[in-house]
Amino acid sequence: MRAILLGPPGAGKGTQAETIVKEFSVPHISTGDIFRKNIKEGTDLGKKAKEYMDQGKLVPDELTVELVKDRLQEDDCKNGFLLDGFPRTIYQADALEDALKSMDQKIDYVININVRKELLVERAVGRRICKDCSQTYHMSFNPPSKEGRCDSCGGQLQQRKDDTVDTVNNRINVYLEQTEPLIDYYTKKGVLVNVDGEKSIAEVGKDIVEKMRNK
Ligand code: ADP
Ligand code: AMP
Repeated sequence: MRAILLGPPGAGKGTQAETIVKEFSVPHISTGDIFRKNIKEGTDLGKKAKEYMDQGKLVPDELTVELVKDRLQEDDCKNGFLLDGFPRTIYQADALEDALKSMDQKIDYVININVRKELLVERAVGRRICKDCSQTYHMSFNPPSKEGRCDSCGGQLQQRKDDTVDTVNNRINVYLEQTEPLIDYYTKKGVLVNVDGEKSIAEVGKDIVEKMRNK
């Protein structure tokens, strides 16, 4: 099962990835998580990516594409994967298609999570992430049982540096300009699965799994 999670920032891609990877036993590959790990570890890639991420801009295609191509060569991707936050440009989508073709593979599903723009800022600004295991929470919509602490590992919850009102608005605009065209791109390829992302976390997860199973 090879799939992509598509949707604007704050739509719930990372949240739903948890359900999908459990259901289909594939690795979750989030380019945002990979960049954040590199920033934390102070690598060259992290230093380069940070400049763009802090402003809500996309990290340049040449850095992003190579990273994903390498990741897809790893052993755990042999039977499938779930990409989250990649591709984000037509260039990235074409590069992914070429890379998969050379491995005799193709994308089976692109799950497009639809959420109105008005709700996205509130979702992103209220997001909190565990600094140790990256589990995601929301202050109002999905709070941890103990304030500021991760339910899974007890780690400290943090706000992402790019989850401020201004940066989220920039990210939404970047999405509309550069990523939204991918909806058409994958519709034409017959792999798009549309989901209403405004329902509860559990309901959205159920819809996604049902739609994937019935496609
Ligand atoms: P993305 O990966 O698309 O940027 P996330 O999965 O991190 O989005 O979700 C953004 C925020 O919205 C998180 O704080 C998450 O807990 C919350 N969230 C996700 N899905 C829902 C939902 N269906 N209803 C309410 N809040 C949600
Ligand atoms: P995310 O965790 O998906 O919200 O991504 C956070 C940030 O990482 C984005 O705002 C971009 O700066 C960067 N990023 C993540 N994935 C990509 C990608 N496919 N292409 C370019 N930049 C990306």
